[in-house]
Amino acid sequence: MRYPIAERFKATQGEGAHTGVPMAFIRTVGCSVGQKVCTACDTRFDRSYADLGGGTYTEQELAEWVSPYLHACITGGEPLDRDIRPLAFALNKAGVMVHVETSGTRVPPWLGPPLTVPGFRLIAKDNGDGTQAWLPCGFWVTVSPKPGWQPEMLQAADEVKVILGGLGDGPGWPDIAQAVAWANETFPHSRQRPVYVQQRNGINEIDREALDEALRVVDENPALRLSVQLHKFLRTR
Ligand code: SF4
Repeated sequence: MRYPIAERFKATQGEGAHTGVPMAFIRTVGCSVGQKVCTACDTRFDRSYADLGGGTYTEQELAEWVSPYLHACITGGEPLDRDIRPLAFALNKAGVMVHVETSGTRVPPWLGPPLTVPGFRLIAKDNGDGTQAWLPCGFWVTVSPKPGWQPEMLQAADEVKVILGGLGDGPGWPDIAQAVAWANETFPHSRQRPVYVQQRNGINEIDREALDEALRVVDENPALRLSVQLHKFLRTR
């Protein structure tokens, strides 16, 4: 399969449970949510930016580019607008853990439940004869809910990241009470699904006032965790 990629870069992960992990980021073209909903969206996903490593690549080409990194984040745009299974399997075969950052508005029929080992889940692979086999895959799912988020994706997530105040002024953005409700959900087999709150920053700058608000929210709701976009402090991205 060939994937339209807006940009690629390697950087230290600055958000969520894998903050500090060297990560190869692969940003797919297109987003079914769109910037009419997310008016403060800070990503360019409208086309391939050749100067930023964008283009059309096979899964093997992308897996070779990721090496020797051990973690790759498929992000967007909305990566689940397309079938990313061939890319995920190629990355896993190369020893790379796959991370997916999604709006939670898409529920792929091939996405299976998390396994007891964090970050691993079953993914349906087509056998080519009309049947499917469910295979374990290193596939960490981060849901940052946008309007239209689906409850199934909140259940399937390995972590949830709520942007305080959302990225737009329309309806459907999760609020603090919703984030706390998600954080207080319990799962079988002692599965953890942390819920982060993250301040809404500028494209390259930390918004100190918004960060103080996020600190206050976590202080008052200790079921939540703080995600600060470390890369904007480090100016690595
Ligand atoms: S879902 Fe994400 S990539 Fe798409 S418009 Fe919203 S913030 Fe931007």
